[in-house]
Amino acid sequence: MTVTAIVGANWGDEGKGKMTDVLAAQSSYVVRYQGGSNAGHTIINQFGKFALHMLPSGVFYPHVTNVLGPGVALDIGALLEELKTLSLRGVPDPRLIISERAQVVLPIHPMIDQLEEERLGARNFGSTRRGIAPFYSDKYAKLGVQVSELRDPARLRDRIGQLLETRNVLLKHLYGQPAVHVDEWITQLSEYAEHLMPYIGDTTSLLNDAYQSGEPILLEGQLGALRDPDHGIYPFTTSSSTLAGGAPVGAGIPPYAITRILAVTKAYSSCVGTGPFVTELRGNEADELRCRGGDSGEYGATTGRPRRVGWFDAVATRYGCRIQGATSVALTNLDVLGYLDEIPVCVGYETEEGVCSQFPITAKLLSAKPVYKRLAGWKCDLSQVSAYSHLPEAARNYIDFVESEIGVAITTVSVGPRREQVMER
Ligand code: GDP
Repeated sequence: MTVTAIVGANWGDEGKGKMTDVLAAQSSYVVRYQGGSNAGHTIINQFGKFALHMLPSGVFYPHVTNVLGPGVALDIGALLEELKTLSLRGVPDPRLIISERAQVVLPIHPMIDQLEEERLGARNFGSTRRGIAPFYSDKYAKLGVQVSELRDPARLRDRIGQLLETRNVLLKHLYGQPAVHVDEWITQLSEYAEHLMPYIGDTTSLLNDAYQSGEPILLEGQLGALRDPDHGIYPFTTSSSTLAGGAPVGAGIPPYAITRILAVTKAYSSCVGTGPFVTELRGNEADELRCRGGDSGEYGATTGRPRRVGWFDAVATRYGCRIQGATSVALTNLDVLGYLDEIPVCVGYETEEGVCSQFPITAKLLSAKPVYKRLAGWKCDLSQVSAYSHLPEAARNYIDFVESEIGVAITTVSVGPRREQVMER
């Protein structure tokens, strides 16, 4: 029985989408268990290039059942749009099932997200403004709406009415906006319900049956360890757990089912949004790495924002792997570093208390300075290399060094954004 969690070891955008797309070839199920349309997984395959926001990354395989678990923030508009795009671009209709318990991102959520970021001004959190923080706030305040409730207009009206009692006070008195009335949403939500109903079901029974019969299941994490609200760079985090530990809860499978936790990390660092980022580069050095990174430069798949970039941060990644409980690591984007004579790797943080190798709390991170060790570059193009033993010695040394720093075996190395540009070690 193999249940694998694919999760990010850093700030997100590590290449989880690509790795999920690769591993989905041997899986029966690909499950999203947290987050919503606020992150994008880039996938390049025979159908073209896609940035998936809501759909699991198994949608390109007809044999894969894609699941949105109870823990996701279901942005119905974004989901229907994505399904339409796949269809227009020649991808066969994917097998998709959405948990009847998944909660719905309501129009008030992106509205409040945006108003709040504007209100905060310079103190904003760099939100993608997809409504994720207000959505999870309402969920845990027991004011949310489960997707199955869209089928029951009277109940829906009642639930939304209760939510708006408090949200309208904020709209009016904090943000100076007109109040919202439940009638404004009912028509659209009823239309959504029509489109969605064929996909709604009991994913918990489905996945538990699949687990019992030993079917391979992939649990696909969104964002990375350092964005976890409990263990990450709070408050510059997201609002659901990005950890493999949260996966069984958000997906609805037993915690002991997960046997493999593959943490994905880039061979350098990238970070979209605000918050402390110790190895951040600026100026020409940053521009060069940003232009060369990813499949066509480091720009956010959801927002198009330029990603902040820096050298590989072993302190952050060791911590990220630890809180993920990583059993193995996939190192992506190694090809990107082929232009460098020397490659710095951050092995410690200089703080007021001296050099530390443990990832500190946010307040200390803000003033930490990176301590680098420089490794020899390989100065060649790796994108065509398909076997580990064919990598140049300097590239293998780089991988060995990173592995010894993070303390988890690097089992997979990726040298390009395409499915085939990946090798086992
Ligand atoms: P995710 O959210 O973790 O799935 O990551 P994103 O898709 O947001 O960002 C990863 C970026 O790296 C995308 O542009 C991918 O196409 C790209 N990518 C993934 N693996 C590789 C690789 O090995 N080399 C290169 N050059 N790009 C890669």
